[in-house]
Amino acid sequence: MENVVIIGSGLAGYTLARELRKLAPDLPVRLLTRDDGTSYSKPMLSNALAKGKTAQSLAMASAEQMVGQLNMTITTHTAVTAIDTQAHRVVTAMEEIPYGNLVLAVGAEPVRPPLEGDAAGAVLSVNNLADYAVFRAALDEARHVAIIGPGLIGCEFANDLIAAGKQVTVIGPGKAPLDRLAPAPVGVSVQAALAKLGVEWRLGVTAARVDHHAGAYQVGLSDGGAVRADCVLSAVGLRPNLTLAKAAGLNTGRGIVVDRHLQSSAPDVYALGDCAEVAGLVLPFVMPIMHAARALAQTLAGTPTVLTYPAMPVVVKTPACPLVVSPPAVGAEGHWQIEHIEEGGVRALYRGGDGRVLGFALSGIAAAERQAWSKDLPPVLA
Ligand SMILES: Cc1cc2nc3c(=O)[nH]c(=O)nc-3n(C[C@H](O)[C@H](O)[C@H](O)COP(=O)(O)OP(=O)(O)OC[C@H]3O[C@@H](n4cnc5c(N)ncnc54)[C@H](O)[C@@H]3O)c2cc1C
Repeated sequence: MENVVIIGSGLAGYTLARELRKLAPDLPVRLLTRDDGTSYSKPMLSNALAKGKTAQSLAMASAEQMVGQLNMTITTHTAVTAIDTQAHRVVTAMEEIPYGNLVLAVGAEPVRPPLEGDAAGAVLSVNNLADYAVFRAALDEARHVAIIGPGLIGCEFANDLIAAGKQVTVIGPGKAPLDRLAPAPVGVSVQAALAKLGVEWRLGVTAARVDHHAGAYQVGLSDGGAVRADCVLSAVGLRPNLTLAKAAGLNTGRGIVVDRHLQSSAPDVYALGDCAEVAGLVLPFVMPIMHAARALAQTLAGTPTVLTYPAMPVVVKTPACPLVVSPPAVGAEGHWQIEHIEEGGVRALYRGGDGRVLGFALSGIAAAERQAWSKDLPPVLA
């Protein structure tokens, strides 16, 4: 078996290393990461505040502890700057490292909204533990937080911050929050539940600028309105990190293009996690990473394995209005059937022409029906 070099110490990099170790205890594995290599659960970043957790207490294991657990070499604070796919080498500022098989698990970067104003640079985003430490330090001084982006992560932070006693305003262009994930009535049910707790919504507008104002910030809106806040958080989405892959001449689309073996356009170079586009799908969630890591570990350990994905509903962490979503496949023919439930919540089922349920969004009391509706869903990748 060829030695494996993994770039990235997020969920994708570490889960792959763990799966590889189960199958190939002696295979030389080296992991390179530009951060400090702390193992942590990224989903907890958006519900940590109300639970009283800090960046430090979210850390599950240091890089040294991961070396001990996984019997591998980990090089931290080291960015890979180039890949020579011909010579099978990765390049860092310090050395060139040969690989038999290379895995890109380099994640995604927060999209920066185009903002004007003298405080545009002070807008925060949270996509890793170090970002979270900065955010938490800013929150110590902040009473009012403005969140730009009413998607999954924006809504989760809104719920967490309001539950922790902050004043929260969420800004976004759609008519309802979560409009990229669920039909409007479902988003509206989450909006109403969070509004009941005190979240203020500024929908149908975009944030145009952020300026310093009277010791705090003022977010200028596209309709001429303004929101004053002590801290501004951007949660407008993530973009796969393609810099290395593009420079190395790998095929890229929305993500690093890989086949059902997670293999890129270059021999012996693979990708998984938030950076990867697998069979046309970019799915930046935990469950796809777990499936991809298991399949890729098999392949790298000598048993070529085709990736399959079952249906993978995503649980949105908005306890004010529990929500679980399994979006239908892009282009799936069908229609949404929407039922408002008297006790609170919405059952939205996406039905194909034959009546079969191809996807769902269940909010409030309907979220408890997740198992029942999940079992007949078609697989995402058969
Ligand atoms: C706030 C938040 C909440 C979330 N909640 C949920 C949830 O509830 N459920 C769910 O399913 N998903 C959730 N997600 C998504 C999920 O957490 C991610 O899909 C997953 O953690 C991504 O892991 P990754 O390893 O692909 O990327 P990352 O964690 O981003 O890891 C990328 C790694 O690559 C390294 N790296 C990048 N470039 C280089 C380089 N050139 N050289 C060396 N190292 C490099 C980075 O340092 C990092 O270690 C959430 C995401 C966020 C931000």
